[in-house]
Amino acid sequence: YNGSSKASESVFKIPPIKFTKLFINGNFVDSVSGKTFEAIDPRTGEAITRVSEGDKEDIDLAVKAARQAFDHGPWPRMSGSERGRIMMKFADLIEENVEELAALDAINGGKLFSHCKAMDIPGAARNLRYYAGAADKIHGTVLKLSKGFQGYTLREPIGVVGSIIPWNFPTIMFFMKAGPALAAGCTMVVKPAEQTPLSALYYAHLAKLAGLPDGVLNVVNGFGETAGAAISSHMDIDKVTFTGSTEVGRKIMTAAAASNLKPVSLELGGKSPLLIFEDADIDQAVNIAFNAIFYNKGEICVASSRVYVQEGIYEIFVKKLVEKANAWVIGDPFDLRVNQGPQTDKKQFEKILSYIEHGKREGATLLTGGKRLGSKGFYIEPTIFTEVKVNSLENNYAIEVPILYYRDGINEDMTIAKEEIFGPVMSLMKFKTMEEAIKRANNTTYGLAAGVITKNLNVANTVSRSIRAGIIWLNCYTAFDVDCPYGGYKMSGFGREFGLDALNQYLQIKSIVTPIHDSPW
Ligand code: ADP
Repeated sequence: YNGSSKASESVFKIPPIKFTKLFINGNFVDSVSGKTFEAIDPRTGEAITRVSEGDKEDIDLAVKAARQAFDHGPWPRMSGSERGRIMMKFADLIEENVEELAALDAINGGKLFSHCKAMDIPGAARNLRYYAGAADKIHGTVLKLSKGFQGYTLREPIGVVGSIIPWNFPTIMFFMKAGPALAAGCTMVVKPAEQTPLSALYYAHLAKLAGLPDGVLNVVNGFGETAGAAISSHMDIDKVTFTGSTEVGRKIMTAAAASNLKPVSLELGGKSPLLIFEDADIDQAVNIAFNAIFYNKGEICVASSRVYVQEGIYEIFVKKLVEKANAWVIGDPFDLRVNQGPQTDKKQFEKILSYIEHGKREGATLLTGGKRLGSKGFYIEPTIFTEVKVNSLENNYAIEVPILYYRDGINEDMTIAKEEIFGPVMSLMKFKTMEEAIKRANNTTYGLAAGVITKNLNVANTVSRSIRAGIIWLNCYTAFDVDCPYGGYKMSGFGREFGLDALNQYLQIKSIVTPIHDSPW
């Protein structure tokens, strides 16, 4: 990236798209309406193919199949080890098709092919194996109750799960929900994001090959306000798991409450802070900070969009950060030299550019980037703002500044410092003391993740315990693993993904109590 041009176009041969219909009750079928919509290639903005568009009627059919499979089918009744064996086979099939699957997420999501191949797709297999291994270790407890009674608990699958997922990690999101739900013995209706409908259909095909009974895993592509809303308000779905924006999470929870009071778990937005202290290794800190926001073009819910640097190292940090931005290569996600592909979605691309314009008008200093790259596709330069702090109360811009959020006298009311941009835009700020840094880090309605870079153990411990967020990365960032739970505090949602905590989201406890006669116990 030299500020004006992109790396060359790719020479990778994209495999033909095999699956474009809805997957209901073990079969690929057209939507009831017969409607289809375009899957877009964000490198060009042009259509790759058309896929079936599901609506309420299709969700109804999928729920019927999932209900039947749960109420009468073998899946929840098999032993955990049998479920685990099928999930292991599913994982093997994913690995056998890793290149083709990586290509689907890259072409449809603008994600780096190399990352999908090395991380996202193998991560799906690892996720399935982790929960496959847990499937036969689900058990309750024996209870000695008050005199004359004893009891035991069963941990039962919660039932039919509706899974509504976003477009930034089409594969990881799919399995983050499907891994634990399937291991628990649930059946599912998955609605992928309308921007990235392709890989989920391939996974449905592989699940069938692996021996997953019909009706256990259904995939219905479609739009949020139609197919998505049909899931959250469905009377015959027992639980909804959602990852996406806070705004849509609120709608889903409202619909769930207004229909059958199904429990929901929500993994929502973030405005995650990264705190860099003066004792940090500067080069390492620059690397971490850079990747923490620009990885996956900033389209990651835990992106550290607010970076706080202690004043003693601020100048040198800024200098090195800009050098790094200048060496960052933007271009075709299939080109192995490229660090950043196009944003996934046109609407999102335009929203990011409008946030950038908003930041400039609000008086933040643009350090680097700040515009779209080229005239084709959804490419945006890595953008860094400083001086992101001024009280802009008297200003009145096109994007509405929402209710100002004051806490402990600290005021960071610039829109770009508060709202989730979900793109390659960093707000860089300076701090003096640890206490100040903690207050400013917590000065947000969100609480998904945070990072701390320091060699001082006391600082690391104090900051980790003081920040209200679901995961804190010390001297690293975006370090995810399937056995490490994470999820939101505050308006970043609730419920946990990954780890055995996620498995518990798909189980419920039944207590069985019985009297014991003629016993002195
Ligand atoms: P983003 O803002 O990142 O695009 P969204 O939260 O809008 O993310 O979308 C995440 C998922 O939620 C997508 O699958 C989308 O179709 C779905 N969705 C959007 N609106 C609704 C809604 N009103 N009800 C249910 N699902 C929705």
